[in-house]
Amino acid sequence: MLNTTASAVPHSLSVLAGKTAIVTGSTSGIGLGIAQALAAEGANVVINGFGAAREIEALRSEISRDYGVEVLYSGTDMSQPEKIAEMIETAAGEFGQVDILVNNAGIQHVSPIESFPPEKWDAVLAIDLSSSFHAIRAVFAGMKERRWGRIVNVASAHGLIASPFKAAYVAAKHGLVGLTKVVALEGAECGVTCNAICPGYVWTPLVEKQIEDQAKSHGISRDQVVRDVLLAQQPDKRFATVDDIGALVAFLCGPAAQSITGAALPVDGGWTAH
Ligand code: NAD
Repeated sequence: MLNTTASAVPHSLSVLAGKTAIVTGSTSGIGLGIAQALAAEGANVVINGFGAAREIEALRSEISRDYGVEVLYSGTDMSQPEKIAEMIETAAGEFGQVDILVNNAGIQHVSPIESFPPEKWDAVLAIDLSSSFHAIRAVFAGMKERRWGRIVNVASAHGLIASPFKAAYVAAKHGLVGLTKVVALEGAECGVTCNAICPGYVWTPLVEKQIEDQAKSHGISRDQVVRDVLLAQQPDKRFATVDDIGALVAFLCGPAAQSITGAALPVDGGWTAH
């Protein structure tokens, strides 16, 4: 169900004024940062994801008020293909069209392969990969017809390289990078770009949970997990911020990025340069 109230300030000078963006998984972390960055450029935004109704409504109205744009909320479960199509249809009905799609919703499960629960494999693949296909499939014809569209898939450094114990996540994110290239080729002559961004570690609730899990499974402290496990491979030894990612997505949606398509852009402090 979509939920909206007001907005006011005109954004005629903003780069994305009049555009509509859907950002999946944007009630938290990176997705929220991306939704804010696109709103700051004047786009109306559909936020999506789970959480407490009151907190989500506070976020929704805050973004709308801070940036003077329309913000809708959809609680669509991105593991449900038919619900994804419904969300996009409703968003297009409310705003006229969907110009920007950011496929960001994602989950993680960490386990050795031999004890990796098959239902976790299915869930990670459904949310981290298949949901992007279903959402792109629903917006693509309209974008091509209007000869303008921006699709950004939030993959991961794990879309380019692997780590042990993340079979489903690494498979899904590599798949997402492949999907990105196909969509880029199919949209190239129609003004529709599609790129993947591949963050290393970004400080969000998803990473916070991994710190807890890894501290438990390795029997080490949180500080040791951060230094010796998570950031061991990240040469700059710092977490990227959600603002870093939001700014990159806003750039990819803007006019200066019209020739960038089919790329998988690392935002990983040099991790994949190894
Ligand atoms: P997060 O857990 O903070 O946020 C995930 C968001 O997805 C939340 O809004 C949550 O409600 C939503 N979500 C989860 N399952 C959903 C579902 N079935 N349907 C709809 N929404 C759902 O995570 P994050 O760290 O911000 O990660 C966002 C994306 O960035 C993910 O795709 C993740 O793989 C990717 N990523 C994160 C990092 C990192 O270090 N945080 C690094 C690389 C890539």
